[in-house]
Amino acid sequence: MSCFGYCNDCGEIHELPSALAIPHCHDLMAQLSAHKRIDFDVPLALADPRLSTHILYSNMRGRMFGILVCEDVSGNEVILRAFSSRHNGVWNVKGWVPPLVDEHAFVAEVERGNLDIHPLTDLIATLPKESKEWYSKLAERRLVSHGILAKLNALYTFHNFKEESRSLEEAFQLKKGIPVGTGDCCAPKLLNYAAKNHLKPLSIAEFFWGKETASGHRTEGSFYASCEEKCQPILGFMLCGVNKLLHS
Ligand SMILES: [Zn+2]
Ligand SMILES: [Zn+2]
Repeated sequence: MSCFGYCNDCGEIHELPSALAIPHCHDLMAQLSAHKRIDFDVPLALADPRLSTHILYSNMRGRMFGILVCEDVSGNEVILRAFSSRHNGVWNVKGWVPPLVDEHAFVAEVERGNLDIHPLTDLIATLPKESKEWYSKLAERRLVSHGILAKLNALYTFHNFKEESRSLEEAFQLKKGIPVGTGDCCAPKLLNYAAKNHLKPLSIAEFFWGKETASGHRTEGSFYASCEEKCQPILGFMLCGVNKLLHS
């Protein structure tokens, strides 16, 4: 099982198998390696240069890609694909599931936050290091940035397979700080899209593509389970209702 999480509501682990999705991942790897861009559905002449896979081999390194095999209400197979977070700063690419947040609202919130943060950063740079005022402005900046993160988190809505929706804070099943970027990985993007579009998930798999991570823990073409720190704490909620659907 590569995609699972503990659900506080049911008091059990919900999970989704990966076998059916694996061959579709290999097809996707073949497309990425042949076209060297993620907008391979459009002719080369219309390709967006930002969507080249070149960035995945730079110092930015590779990222995760994922496939969710679903069934629509008529029993037709639907294959969904996702890239984690943003590709070269691009959130929405035709043929790939969208992020959980509205990108314009997110960018606007980040810009508003920068207006509060940047003057503080400039001011801190002018103060004598380790002076009383320096410490107090550092603390103020920490509070402001926590506030900005909370506003960004509030833009996310998570859906599950019992037709329920929750905020990030409500969906996160652990009593601890929510890591930055929670909800931006492939699994939450794929499951959220399926839940909102009445698709029944059958199988999911996620693989790494591009230059291996600095630690060497992730290498191109290898499959990995949904991450423990950001995904597992929300997957319990997101997968809730999926097993009942599987057996119906
Ligand atoms: Zn993750
Ligand atoms: Zn549950």
